[in-house]
Amino acid sequence: MVNYGIKYWANDDFIIEEGKVKVNHQSKPALIDIVKKVREEVDKLFSSFEDSIKEYHYKGKFKAVFPLKVNHYPNFVLPLMEIAKNRCYGLEAGSKSELIVAMAYTNENAPITVNGFKDKEMISLGFIAAKMKRNITLTIEGLNELETIIEVAQSMGKPYPNIGLRIRLHSTGVGIWAKSGGIHSKFGLTATEQLQAVSMLKKNKLLDKFTMIHFHIGSQISDISPLKKALREAGNIYAELRKMGAKNLSSVNIGGGLAVEYTQFENYQNRNYTLAEFSEDVVFMLKEIAKNKKELEPDIFIESGRYISANHAVLIAPVLELFSQEYDETSLHLKEKNPPLVEELVDLYHTINEQKAIEYLHDSLDHMESLLTLFDLGYIDLQDRSNTEVLVYLIIKKVIQVLRHKNHHEIITIQEQVQERYLLNCSFFQSLPDYWGLKQNFPVMPIDKLHKRATRSASLWDITCDSDGEIAFDKNTPLFLHDIDVKNEEYFLGFFLVGAYQEVLGMRHNLFTHPTELSIVFDKKGDWVIENLLEAQSVLDVLDDLDYDTKEIERRLKQLLEDSREISEESKKEVLGQLYVMLSENGYLRTVFKSEGEKA
Ligand SMILES: *Cc1c(COP(=O)(O)O)cnc(C)c1O
Repeated sequence: MVNYGIKYWANDDFIIEEGKVKVNHQSKPALIDIVKKVREEVDKLFSSFEDSIKEYHYKGKFKAVFPLKVNHYPNFVLPLMEIAKNRCYGLEAGSKSELIVAMAYTNENAPITVNGFKDKEMISLGFIAAKMKRNITLTIEGLNELETIIEVAQSMGKPYPNIGLRIRLHSTGVGIWAKSGGIHSKFGLTATEQLQAVSMLKKNKLLDKFTMIHFHIGSQISDISPLKKALREAGNIYAELRKMGAKNLSSVNIGGGLAVEYTQFENYQNRNYTLAEFSEDVVFMLKEIAKNKKELEPDIFIESGRYISANHAVLIAPVLELFSQEYDETSLHLKEKNPPLVEELVDLYHTINEQKAIEYLHDSLDHMESLLTLFDLGYIDLQDRSNTEVLVYLIIKKVIQVLRHKNHHEIITIQEQVQERYLLNCSFFQSLPDYWGLKQNFPVMPIDKLHKRATRSASLWDITCDSDGEIAFDKNTPLFLHDIDVKNEEYFLGFFLVGAYQEVLGMRHNLFTHPTELSIVFDKKGDWVIENLLEAQSVLDVLDDLDYDTKEIERRLKQLLEDSREISEESKKEVLGQLYVMLSENGYLRTVFKSEGEKA
């Protein structure tokens, strides 16, 4: 994995220079100095489709919406709408709360689409949006929703929102998020229901508001062929519905699903197409169908979420501890007379050299097994056991040291047995929930010290008390990190491409909430500034969100303190002060450096 596979997943958004990961934009700031990256994917998406439209002399337009469920944080959505100002780019909503955000923040004339299940209240909200001159399309998921729309239209009157139909395709998607397509999918109208819908619209004089058909075959489409199949099916449905009199039907909304390349390894790529291929296929396919059926070339609507937002966010987590680093020669307390196997370990430790390194490593692991058995049987004591632990760790370190110039492939087998565990000040449940739930990997690498060779095979632990909070070492997709002295130097890992679905899906396991967030904004000269600093929630706020009575908690703690006889009267005030500070700070851990004193 040369340079942590940056050429596969970074999409030219990040580069390595001077041993640092840098944002490949304008002044190229290094991540070690800053934290977030904005923009650019929108430009890439629009220009790719615009190029394909030009290439094929396609008559329809390209339009897009960002699906709010992928990332609804204001620090993302508001700047996105700013970027979208001179484009036909709006928001997609799937719930009442999302619809309110879309109504408030979509730019004038930019589209709003509403998918998902809707009740009468939500449909009425869509009508209110139309009366506010919002360019809104309500996509119906079933005929009962259409009945409600007809009802609301009668009571609320014109102007009406546009109406879209979600169609149920027989083609299915691929990958872990494929459930959105197929004949048994949760969403969409069957062919029979589509015919019924058209006749209901006709009968209620709403057919002229029917402007869009929609499908979504699932997120992270790894293979382009199911999308092509779906497009062929949807294109034909579009043409057929127009022939039935839906003369204002002018848009085919192909949903989301444009994939992000997450891999750091050549042999594990997640996507078999480029953006250019994707846009060409879509434009070409719809052009062909329109030509064959002698219908208008439709506007192409896309609802890409993951592709637009994944790369804007990087999770940066400080390393708090290296598990084996606790052990150095001073932890060794050998006795006058040690068990023979412990003596052997001492001998191995002192005589390791390059030729014998792997042999000695295996010997020492064997000895450890035997010594642990001897302990279980009562033949050696706890001090002997501790000496065993320390010696084996020292041997591992020395082996890795003498073999450090070998390439990773050669040392992987030994490293698999002797990984270092890096404890990170973050929660995978909160910040990488798709890793926990779906085993989706995210690119991870240190954000500086990259001019030095990383020699330790690493597994990563978060600070939750849950054994699932671990990213284990995998010899097929190995991660190597630097051997650092955490007491004296800072070391940060960056998790990349975490801007889609992660913090928004994150769960407060152990009551860790979102980490401190900030945005990096580039000005016209290319310099960058930090904006929108949002601290992680304080302990009191977290408890308040869970509906604890925080005043009551404060009262109880104060009372317990007053009643305590273990704390002197003079120092009670100080302890109370400490308690209040802790309650007002966030729940993540603080690191202490020998040299610099306290740091957050
Ligand atoms: C989730 C969703 C999207 C976004 O999909 P991505 O894979 O993130 O691009 C788009 N449209 C609909 C209807 C969705 O449910």
